[in-house]
Amino acid sequence: MTGAEQLIERLERERRLSLSEYEALILAGRGETGADLRAAAAARAARVRDENYGNRVFVRGIVEFTNICQNDCYYCGIRRSNQEVARYRLTGDDILRCCEAGYGLGMRTFVLQGGEDGWYDDDRMAAIVRRVKGEFPDCAVTLSLGERSRDSYQRLFDAGADRYLLRHETADRAHYRKLHPASMSWEHRMACLCVLRGIGYAVGLGMMVGSPFQTARDLAEDLKLIETFQPDMCGIGPFIPHRDTPFRDQPAGTLEETLYLLSLIRLLCPDVLLPATTALGTIDPRGREKGVAAGANVVMPNLSPGRVRHQYELYDNKICMDDEPVMCRNCLDLRMRTVGCRIVVDRGDRRRADSAERKQTETEPE
Ligand code: SAH
Repeated sequence: MTGAEQLIERLERERRLSLSEYEALILAGRGETGADLRAAAAARAARVRDENYGNRVFVRGIVEFTNICQNDCYYCGIRRSNQEVARYRLTGDDILRCCEAGYGLGMRTFVLQGGEDGWYDDDRMAAIVRRVKGEFPDCAVTLSLGERSRDSYQRLFDAGADRYLLRHETADRAHYRKLHPASMSWEHRMACLCVLRGIGYAVGLGMMVGSPFQTARDLAEDLKLIETFQPDMCGIGPFIPHRDTPFRDQPAGTLEETLYLLSLIRLLCPDVLLPATTALGTIDPRGREKGVAAGANVVMPNLSPGRVRHQYELYDNKICMDDEPVMCRNCLDLRMRTVGCRIVVDRGDRRRADSAERKQTETEPE
C-alpha cells in the first residue's frame, strides 16, 4: 500500500484525519497518477455505502420555485445582476402540482429550492410547507432557500419542514470572499447552519468542486468541516461556469475530483445522505451513475414545470431541461441499475450508522 492508500484505510477506520493529511490525499488523487488511489477510494466508499444503505438509492424531487434572488454570488446564473434571465415565481398551486406528479412516480421527498426571494416571507412559505405536508403526510419536505433568520427557520420547521440544505460553499473564509460580494459573509452562513441544526432540522451542507481560486488546502478544510459538523446530507458537485456571470471564463471542476471527493466524504461520514448531483450529470453523460458507484446514494430529479426550467439555469448546459418527470424517473432507474443499484420508494431518512453501538459504548451524553 502506498502512503496515500494507508491514509484512506485510516480514514475509513477512524473517520478523521488531520488537515494536512486531507490536503495530501487530495493532491495524491489528482491527475493520471492519482487514478489508482481514486479507484481504491471509490471501491471502499461503495462498500461502506452498501453496509449502511444497501444498493438502495433515494430520490428527491426538486421543485425550483423561484429564480428571483437578492444575492449576487459570482458563480451563479440566477444572481441578481444577471439581466439576461426572465424571472419567475411559482404559486402554492403550481408547487403542489409538481409534488403530485412526483408522488405518483414514487418520490417521497420534495426539495423546495429557490433564490433568496423576499416575496416568500414566513407566512407565505409556511403556508406552502403546510400544504405540501398536509397533502403528502408520508413525505419529507426539504427546504433550500438560503439564509434566513432564526425565527424564520423556526417557523418553517414548525410548519412541518423536515430538512434544510444550505451549502457552505467553501470552508475557507478568504476563499469565500473570492466567490461572493462583500454583502455576504462566511460567518453568517456558518451561523445559519448551526441554528438549523439547533432547531432540529436534518441539515445538509456542501461545496462546489473546482470553484474558482479553490486550492487543495481549501478542499481539505471542507473535509475537516464535514468531519466535525457531521451533516445529515452533503451536496457536492463540480463548479460549472455560466455565460452571464463574472466566472464565465473559469474552468469547470473535473469529474475525477468530484467523484474522489464523494468517496472521501462517504468514508468519513458512512451514513451521510450523499447526492450524485445534476451538475455531475452535466459534466459527464454518466456522471450520476459514476457518482453512485463512488459512494453516493441520492439522486435529485427535477420536478419544476417545463415552462420555467430553462430559467433556473445556475450553470451552462444543465441536463434534463426538456424531460417530463416520468422520463427522468425511468431514466434514472435504468442508470442506477448499470452500477448495481436501484431507486426506491422511501423518504430516505438518514440511518444512523453507529447509534446503537454508541449507546452501548458511550456513557457520556452526546
Ligand atoms: N439560494 C439557495 C439555493 C442555492 S442554488 C442557497 O443559497 O442555498 C444551490 C447550489 O447550486 C448552490 O449552493 C451552489 O453550490 C450551486 N451552484 C450555483 N451556481 C453553480 C455553478 N455555476 N456551478 C455549479 N454549482 C452551482
